[in-house]
Amino acid sequence: MHEEWQHFYGTAFWQRRRKQQLKAHPLCKCCAERGIVTAARVADHVEPHKGDWNLFALGELQSLCGSCHNSRKRFIETRGHSVDVGDDGWPTDPKHPANRS
Ligand SMILES: [Zn+2]
Repeated sequence: MHEEWQHFYGTAFWQRRRKQQLKAHPLCKCCAERGIVTAARVADHVEPHKGDWNLFALGELQSLCGSCHNSRKRFIETRGHSVDVGDDGWPTDPKHPANRS
């Protein structure tokens, strides 16, 4: 699926940010939590930016390997929403059932 914000990833700004993230955190965070050492390939946004440039540019990143990144994405796509919660413990995704009226 092609989102309108896909071009964010083509910017020189992002290329530099991604490179810095992978240099600072070269191992997959998800695998490391399971005691596995895997080289990270993807600088993933901890909080999905959904086309918000500020979040995209300044949001926290985590280094993931390809398969962890795909399974995280697939999880969100198959459920139709993210299960991430904000500081107040409420789901951050507007598509989450708790946020539907
Ligand atoms: Zn991994």
